[in-house]
Amino acid sequence: MLKISSLIMTISVLSFSAIANPESQKYLGFNYPHKAQNAVSITFDDARHSQVDVGTAILNRHQVKATFYVSPFNVKQRLTQWQDAVKSGHEIANHTSSHVCTGNFEWLRAQDLSLEHTTLKWLENDILSAQQYLKDHLGVTPRAFAYPCGNTFVGRGIDTKSYVPLIAKHFDSGRTWLDESANNPNFTDFAQLTGLRIDGMSFDEIITMLDQLRENNAWLILAGHEVGNGDQYTTDAKVLEQLLVYLKDPANGYWLDTVSNVSDYVRQQRKPLN
Ligand SMILES: [Zn+2]
Repeated sequence: MLKISSLIMTISVLSFSAIANPESQKYLGFNYPHKAQNAVSITFDDARHSQVDVGTAILNRHQVKATFYVSPFNVKQRLTQWQDAVKSGHEIANHTSSHVCTGNFEWLRAQDLSLEHTTLKWLENDILSAQQYLKDHLGVTPRAFAYPCGNTFVGRGIDTKSYVPLIAKHFDSGRTWLDESANNPNFTDFAQLTGLRIDGMSFDEIITMLDQLRENNAWLILAGHEVGNGDQYTTDAKVLEQLLVYLKDPANGYWLDTVSNVSDYVRQQRKPLN
C-alpha cells in the first residue's frame, strides 16, 4: 500500500515538473565584468529631498553611480541639486508625474488618483509628461522606469489591464518593488526587474539578504527612499556608506553599476533561457 502511494506521488511530481517547464534548461552561468559573480545596482525612488541633501554626497565620495527614479514634483524643489546629480554621472529614471498607485492609499484617493480608476492612455500621458520635464530641466531622456508602489496594473477585477507593455514600449527597463527574488541574468524580463528593499535595514540584515539571493550570478537591484536616519522608508546613511565599501571591495565579487549600464550589458551577454 505504502509502495503504491509513493509511486503515485513520484508520477504526479514528475508529470507536474514536465508540464510546468516542458523545455527546462540547466543553469548556463553568466560572466560579469572584472570577474564579478554578481551585479548590483543601487536605486532610490521618488526624488525624496534627502537623496540629494544627504545621499549623493555619500555616493560621490565613494565614486558610486546610482539610479534615481524621480517624479518631477519633488525634483522641482531641489532642481539645482538634481542637475548636479546628473553632472556627477548618476542615472535619472522615470517614476511618473503623479506617482499614481493603488487607491488603497488614502493620500492618493484624496487627490482623486488611483490605478483602479485610471486608463492606460491617461497613465501614458502622465509618464510621458515626466519624461518631457526631465528632458527640459535635467537634459536627460530616461531609459529606465520604476512602477510607483510596485503596482503594474490599471482598472479592477475583470477589466484589469497590465501596464507592463506600456513600459516595455517606452523604456529599456521597468523595476518593481518589495520582491522576494533577484534577477536571473539569463531569464529576467527587463520590463519587470525585481527590486529589493534596503530601507530600515541594518548592514548585517542587508548582507544576509544579498548572501541568500546571490546564487546563480543574480543581478540584485536594491531600492531605497529617504537617506539619513529615520523610519522604515529611510536607508540609514551609515549603513549606505558601509554597504558601498563592502560592494566595491573586489574580494566580495560584486560589479556595481547603474540599472541601465547593467541592463545593457546583460542584454548583450545573456544566453536566454526558456
Ligand atoms: Zn515611489
